[in-house]
Parts: sequence; C-alpha cells; structure tokens
Amino acid sequence: MSQVFVLVEHRQGKIRDITYEMLQAGETLASKQGASSTAVLLGHDVKALAEDLATRTSKVLVVEDENLKNFNSILYQKVLSSLIAKYQPFLTLIGHTAFGMDLAPSLSVEMGFPLVTDCIGLSFEENRLKAVRSVYGGKLNAHISTRESKGYLATVRPGVYSPGAPEGKKDGIVMEPSPLQERNDIKKFIEYIEAPIAGEDITQAEIIVSVGQGIGGPEPIPMIEEVARSLGGVLACSRPVVDRNWLPKERQVGISGKTVKPKVYIAIGISGAFQHVTAMQGSETIIAINKDPRAPIFNVADYGIVDDFQNVIPILKEKAKGMK
Ligand SMILES: Cc1cc2nc3c(=O)[nH]c(=O)nc-3n(C[C@H](O)[C@H](O)[C@H](O)COP(=O)(O)OP(=O)(O)OC[C@H]3O[C@@H](n4cnc5c(N)ncnc54)[C@H](O)[C@@H]3O)c2cc1C
Repeated sequence: MSQVFVLVEHRQGKIRDITYEMLQAGETLASKQGASSTAVLLGHDVKALAEDLATRTSKVLVVEDENLKNFNSILYQKVLSSLIAKYQPFLTLIGHTAFGMDLAPSLSVEMGFPLVTDCIGLSFEENRLKAVRSVYGGKLNAHISTRESKGYLATVRPGVYSPGAPEGKKDGIVMEPSPLQERNDIKKFIEYIEAPIAGEDITQAEIIVSVGQGIGGPEPIPMIEEVARSLGGVLACSRPVVDRNWLPKERQVGISGKTVKPKVYIAIGISGAFQHVTAMQGSETIIAINKDPRAPIFNVADYGIVDDFQNVIPILKEKAKGMK
C-alpha cells in the first residue's frame, strides 16, 4: 500500500479546520498500513498554505493554476482524478463539507472507487476500507464494509478527529503541473459573500453560556443572559431554541449553525445531539447542566451538574456577580 491522499480544503486564503483533522486521521491510517499521508493542495498563489501544511505532513502535492483559485468541483475533479491515476493512493480523504459533498460522488463514479460519506471512523481490514457512520440523528452507528478495490474515497465528518500539532518544518513540497487545458464555464465562481454577522459574533467569544430546549421556554433567557454577561461571556443556543423563536439564528451552535471553540462552554438543558456537539466539542472546558444523568452531553463534558437548571442558575448568578 502506498499512501493516503488528504484533499486540502481552503477558502479565502485560509486552510479550513477539516483539513488538519483529516491529516491527523490520514496519518494514523497510513502508518497502520506502513504507508504515508500526502496533503493535496489545489489552488492559486498557495505557497504559504503549502509551507504551513509541510509542518504537519511529510509530503504536500501542489497544483497551482489560476482556475483553481476558488473551489470548483468540476475542475477539482479533473485535477484530483489525474493525481490519483498517477500516484495511486489507496485512500483519498475529502471533507464532508459543502465542497466535499459536491465533489466526492462524481469523483467516485469517474474512478470506479467505492465512496463512504460522512465517516466518523475509518480502518482497513484485509485491504478493504471499513467505515463507521452515525445514523438516525446519532442514535446508531452503522459499520460499513466496502468491496475490494484498488482505491477508496471517504468523506470525513468535521469535528470528529482532533487536529495534530505542527511538527516543525519538513521539506516535502512537490509541485505538479496542472492538467487543466481549458477553462470551465459550466460552473463558475462569481463572488464570495460572507454571511453578515448580526448582533454578537459567538464564534469569537471566550465564554459561552448556551441554552437548549430543556429551559422550557424563553422566560429564563434574560436571567441566563445576565449570568453570561457577568462571566464576561455571550449567550448561544441549540437549534430547537431558534426553531421556536426564543433566540435568533446567529446564536445557534451546530452543524447548521456556528462552530465555536471558546475557553468555557456551559451547556444548559442541551441533550448533546451530534449535530450540536460536533460544533462545540473543540471548546477548552465544557460544563453541562442537565437533569438527565444519561444525557449524551455528559460524554463530552469536563464537568457535569445533574440537576434542574432552575436550581443551578440562581447559584451561578450569585457566584458570577462582579466576576466580569
Ligand atoms: C440536518 C440537521 C441539522 C441540525 N443542526 C443542528 C444544529 O446546528 N444545532 C443543534 O443544536 N441541533 C441541530 N439539529 C437538531 C439536533 O438533532 C437536536 O434535535 C438538537 O440539538 C436538540 O436540541 P436540545 O439539546 O436543545 O433539545 P433536546 O434534545 O430536547 O434536549 C433537551 C435536554 O434538556 C434536558 N432538560 C429538560 N428539562 C431540564 C431542566 N429543567 N433542567 C436541566 N435539563 C433539562 C433534557 O434532559 C434534555 O437532555 C439538527 C438536526 C438535523 C436533522
């Protein structure tokens, strides 16, 4: 077995977290197979990104082409399929993101390789890819076995693997000529529009107090927000809280909301569905308040309080007074 390819996801000159997570997953898988992992970077003017990646993996394959400046699944597929044909990696990892979901299925058809999407676990048994997918809202794990193939594709769920730390500069940047001959006008990038941040930007907060459906209604929110403010933090929430119009959408943490990594995340009346946890488990310290001791949020919490939040908030409020 040769190598694991990790497709680098970048946007607006920044490498996205999923890339570092996949590099870690790729490195672990590759070393178990006696192979190595390779970051595959497609873009334009990406020298700085390549140098950053070279501190985390032994090899970075770079294709520079002005047409690759912004993600375009048709062009990415053309370049990636030619690199796969040349280097024959036994596995190619792609983020289970809007980019990856646009690219991986048609790449799989073109290459004739099995594809497993949204993986939360990956391994090889007798040279076949085995993958774990979380299904039915995280209630079950499906163990997927693939047919024998000379190559496999997998999209990796963001937030599942921890990114490894940089290991110092390595000299493994390899420039590859671009195979793109002509421009592609079927699908073209027009403009990048950052979603406007109305009100508070919860992604920048160091302390987040987040409320879930378990608070029972909007009534406790002002008191909980006061606690958040006294701690020098901001208020966030789970999706049902937004669906019920208790708080606006920009406060939502989760796969269809914001990803946050504060120093402290206090989850109040939040069960811990993966759609929520994925986007907050990178927090330094997680404190959960939930009256159900079996709530999954306690699996990721550093500290847990099993109680009705109504008993806990007044105590927190008292303790938080003047802390800001
Ligand atoms: C495609 C898709 C995308 C999604 N995106 C997101 C997303 O971005 N963000 C997100 O959060 N969810 C998202 N969800 C929804 C997700 O699956 C869960 O339904 C949701 O996270 C649950 O929210 P919750 O924990 O607030 O509510 P619940 O699951 O209802 O949990 C409430 C918790 O409060 C506890 N509780 C009840 N009363 C009290 C009390 N008095 N004191 C203390 N604890 C109490 C209960 O024990 C329970 O654990 C998504 C779902 C899908 C299908």
